[in-house]
Amino acid sequence: MNTKAYGAHAADRPLEPLAIERREPGPRDVEIAIAYCGICHSDLHTVRGEWAGTRFPCVPGHEIVGQVTAVGSEVTRYREGDTVGVGCLVDSCRRCSACDEGLEQYCENGLVATYNSATDDPPGHTLGGYSQSIVVGQDFVLKVTHPKEQLAAVAPLLCAGITTYSPLRHWKVGPGKKVGIVGIGGLGHMGIKIAHALGAHTVGFTTSEAKRADAAALGADEVVVSRNKQEMKAHANSFDFILNTVAASHDLDAYTQLLKRDGTMTVNDAYERMLKSDVKYRFVIDGASYAST
Ligand SMILES: [Zn+2]
Ligand SMILES: [Zn+2]
Repeated sequence: MNTKAYGAHAADRPLEPLAIERREPGPRDVEIAIAYCGICHSDLHTVRGEWAGTRFPCVPGHEIVGQVTAVGSEVTRYREGDTVGVGCLVDSCRRCSACDEGLEQYCENGLVATYNSATDDPPGHTLGGYSQSIVVGQDFVLKVTHPKEQLAAVAPLLCAGITTYSPLRHWKVGPGKKVGIVGIGGLGHMGIKIAHALGAHTVGFTTSEAKRADAAALGADEVVVSRNKQEMKAHANSFDFILNTVAASHDLDAYTQLLKRDGTMTVNDAYERMLKSDVKYRFVIDGASYAST
């Protein structure tokens, strides 16, 4: 099946409209018309060849939300018309110990990422969500229950959301815990919302006075401008957990001093961050835009 996409033919070429081929749905496959796809910093690194091993043509995108348009004969979990999501992986070996435990992201034989992984489908590597449609095995498709008008905001949950939710949950953030979120960008804005929703006393850290009001609006109980030494000092030895989402190199000591004894700081994949600090807070591609390509 021919489908329209945005991709690049080489690291030094811009994204441009491309025609790509999707496989016909197999017995366990779900075919999805993509309504929105979030733009993750990893997409940019890959498409620009900043990480080794980019396969071209490259169609990035792993924050995918859309509607099911067809299902294979053995698909039981989804039917046509369902709203669904696809995140960072679309397959794994399904037989190693990690896969057995439902931790396919740690597949010992190499997971199949949503884009830039080897596959039998044309052109020999996976092509991501900057496209009108995608075909994915039902085991790697997620049910989405949000109404249609919220789907653009749901897309970033598929990568930025899970990237921040995962450590917050792992470290049991919740009521009675004081939690810091450092950086208020694509990841940090999600971190504040999730930490707040989990019931923690949530403190946002930003270098920018301009983001103070934004952080509060996202749910931060307090906001600290990290350049202000007095403000920083007022929080010394008080945090149970700090989620540091800042990619640019910065002084981690300034934050470890804010942790309680036995407190934890998690520094996220530094690359999961948008290049432009003025993005508020995540771009998504609207599937309707392909009509004009
Ligand atoms: Zn991502
Ligand atoms: Zn595996």
